[in-house]
Amino acid sequence: MSTVNGGISFWYGQEGAPAPREPLPGDTTADVCIVGGGYTGLWTAYYLKKAVPFLNITVLEAKFCGYGASGRNGGWLYNGIAGRARYAKLHGHEAAVRLQQAMNATVEEVLDVCETEKIEADQHRGGVLEVALSPAQLSRLKDFHATEAAFGETDRELYGARETADRIRVTGAVGSSWTPHGARLHPMKLVKGLAAAVEALGVTIHESTPVTEIRPKHAITPYGTVRAPYVLRCTEGFTASLAGQRRTWLPMNSSMIATEPLSDAQWESIGWAGRETLGDMAHAYMYAQRTADGRIALGGRGVPYRYGSKTDNDGRTQPQTIEALREILVRFFPQLAGVRVDHAWSGVLGVPRDWCATVTLDRSTGLGWAGGYVGSGVATANLAARTLRDLIQQDSGQSGPTDLTALPWVNHKVRKWEPEPLRWLAVQTMYAAFRGADRRELTGHSAETDRVATLADKVAGRH
Ligand SMILES: Cc1cc2nc3c(=O)[nH]c(=O)nc-3n(C[C@H](O)[C@H](O)[C@H](O)COP(=O)(O)OP(=O)(O)OC[C@H]3O[C@@H](n4cnc5c(N)ncnc54)[C@H](O)[C@@H]3O)c2cc1C
Repeated sequence: MSTVNGGISFWYGQEGAPAPREPLPGDTTADVCIVGGGYTGLWTAYYLKKAVPFLNITVLEAKFCGYGASGRNGGWLYNGIAGRARYAKLHGHEAAVRLQQAMNATVEEVLDVCETEKIEADQHRGGVLEVALSPAQLSRLKDFHATEAAFGETDRELYGARETADRIRVTGAVGSSWTPHGARLHPMKLVKGLAAAVEALGVTIHESTPVTEIRPKHAITPYGTVRAPYVLRCTEGFTASLAGQRRTWLPMNSSMIATEPLSDAQWESIGWAGRETLGDMAHAYMYAQRTADGRIALGGRGVPYRYGSKTDNDGRTQPQTIEALREILVRFFPQLAGVRVDHAWSGVLGVPRDWCATVTLDRSTGLGWAGGYVGSGVATANLAARTLRDLIQQDSGQSGPTDLTALPWVNHKVRKWEPEPLRWLAVQTMYAAFRGADRRELTGHSAETDRVATLADKVAGRH
C-alpha cells in the first residue's frame, strides 16, 4: 500500500465527516452568526447555547465541520498558549499567570465536556513529554522548564536521560520535561462529537457555505446574507481569504505523517506506555502522538508558508516534506526504518504578526473573532469560546465582567503582516535559519542556542 497524500487528513480518512449539512438556503437572521465550523466556532456555539438556550445561533462553514486545522491537527490537547511572554510584558506577570491557570483548567474542561456529552475522541490523559536531543536543546529545555514553573506549573517534572527512556526510548534523548496538563485525542472525532452536541442543543449549522465578506451585523455568502447583531469570525488559518483580512493572520502550514500500526514488539522497543504527547526542543520542532490504534502520528513544519497567503489543496503535501518527517521518525526510533507511512497531510494555522493568540469582541460593531493560536489551538479554542460567550453576555447586559473577560489576551490589538513579497521572504528566511540552527545544534557540542536562530526569532517578532 502506498502513502495516501492529502485527502484532508488521516483522521478524516479514518472517520469521514457526518452526512453533509444543507447549505444556507437564502437570506435569514440570527442572534449570533458564527463563521467557521472548527473548534473555535463550534465551542462558541456550544457555550452560548448552553448559557442562553433561546438564542438563535447559525454556524456557516465553507466546506464541512473539521475541514480546517481542527480536523487535521496533532491531537495535543495541552495547556500551551501563544503569546504568554508578551502578555506578561504588557500586563504584568500575575496577569499571565492567570492566563496560564485558565489554560490548565481548559484541558480539564474539554475532557469534562467530552465525558458529559459522551464524545468518544480517543482522549487519553497522559500529559506532554518534551525531549532534548542535544546540549543546546537541553539547556533550552531547562530554561523552558524553569519558566513554566515560574508561571505556576509546579507539578511539571524534569527528567534525565534514563528517566526519559523509562517513558519513551527516543534515541539520543538527553533529558525531558513532562507536564500532566495534556491529553492525546483524535481531532476529527472531537469535531464530529462537538458538531453533533451543538446541533442537539438546537444550533443551526450550514455547510458548503463560504462567507465572502463579514461586515457589522452581516455575513455575506453566495447563497444569501445572515443578519445578526453579533457576527463571529472563527476562521483561523483561512482568515486571509475573507475580504479585507488578507494581512491579518498569516496562514502557516504544518504537515503530518501517520505510520502503519506498529507491532507489539515495536511498541515494546519504544515504550511510550503512558501515551504522552511527544515533542522536542528543536527550533523547527516536531510533535507526535501514539494513536489509539497503535500508530505514530508525527508532525512538523514542512513548507511553512505559500506565497500570497494561499491555503489549501485538501492537505496535499510535498514529497520532500513527507521524507523530512520520515527522517525525524527514524532519527527518533531507528528500529522503525522499514515502517510504512500510511498517510501524509498538511493544514494551516493562523499566525498574528506578534505571535499572540487573541479573543476579541468589538462592542461598537458586534464583530468578534478568536484565533492566532500559532499551533496550540486545540485547548485554546475552548478558552476563547467561553470568553466570547462571556463577552457577548456582558455586551448584551446579561452579565458583568468575568474572570475570563479580564484575561490579558482579551481585545488585544496587533498590527498587520507586511505585504508580499516581504511576508513570504520573512517566513522562508526564518525557517531556513531554524533548520540550519537545528542541524548545527544536533551535530555540535555547544550548550548555547545557535545565534542565527536567536536572531531569526527576533526578526520574526516571536520574542
Ligand atoms: C497539521 C496541524 C497540526 C496541529 N497540531 C496541533 C496540536 O497538536 N495541538 C494544538 O493545540 N494545536 C494544533 N494545531 C493548531 C490547531 O489545530 C488550530 O489552532 C485549531 O484547530 C484552530 O481551530 P479553529 O476552529 O480556530 O480553525 P479551523 O479548525 O481551521 O476552522 C476554521 C473553519 O472555518 C472554515 N472557513 C474558512 N473560511 C471560511 C469562510 N470564508 N466562510 C465559512 N467558513 C470558512 C474552514 O473550512 C474551517 O472549517 C495544529 C494545526 C495543524 C494545521
